[in-house]
Amino acid sequence: MSESLLKAGPEIEVRGLHKSFGDNEVLRGIDLEINQGEVVCVIGPSGSGKSTLLRCVNLLEEPTKGQVFVGGTELTDPDVDIDAARRGIGMVFQQFNLFPHLTVTENLTLPQRRVLKRNKASAAKAAAENLERVGLSEKATAYPASLSGGQQQRVAIARALAMGPEVMLFDEPTSALDPELVGDVLAVMRMLANEGMTMMVVTHEMTFAREVADRVVFMDGGVIVEDGTPDQVIGNPQHERTRHFLSRLL
Ligand code: ADP
Ligand code: MG
Repeated sequence: MSESLLKAGPEIEVRGLHKSFGDNEVLRGIDLEINQGEVVCVIGPSGSGKSTLLRCVNLLEEPTKGQVFVGGTELTDPDVDIDAARRGIGMVFQQFNLFPHLTVTENLTLPQRRVLKRNKASAAKAAAENLERVGLSEKATAYPASLSGGQQQRVAIARALAMGPEVMLFDEPTSALDPELVGDVLAVMRMLANEGMTMMVVTHEMTFAREVADRVVFMDGGVIVEDGTPDQVIGNPQHERTRHFLSRLL
């Protein structure tokens, strides 16, 4: 399929998304568009549905109702090849989920070999390139346990990047880190943003959101309460719920 024939539209689009776990309606009608190259930070209280929204974007959770499009492909279409569609979506979690018995390089090459069927040489090349991007070339043969949490998270980011994603989803990537290790991970994310990566980032790092995000989305109770520029949503929130949330972070 020729890319040029596809209608230009948002890179990520969520329409009328609902998600329930049993009787618990966690997402109650989410509409969200993220354009190519945009960085959108999602903020909100614990339990407001941020992770569930992110997981619905790559269909790790199946929406109860509504549609999700990534790169023009409808992931919620029952006929879609979901494994193929997911290949364009990188995800980074709070817990890095590296394989402890594999070296850093092996952690990066394994999914490329398994999922993308890359040969050994091209997987190794992409691994080396992306380790360099996150500043960890010298750790190529190290095992995860010998790395700091911040270094492990940067390896997890490099692992996702080595798959060549069109969009990157981050779910509180720095929440499990000691404070002094947060900066290096945020610096890598800032670099990706500057390179034009489309990013959806659930975070409590308000400085990062203010400086890097094009838009900030505030969620509460399974709905988007505010969606605007960082100056609007963080600097001049219009809703009491947003003001209350932000006041508790300071
Ligand atoms: P947040 O990331 O904003 O803290 P979550 O999306 O993780 O919020 O969770 C929102 C709500 O959904 C919570 O009440 C949580 O208990 C519930 N929830 C999340 N995942 C599941 C699941 N797999 N099964 C049942 N309930 C879930
Ligand atoms: Mg969460």
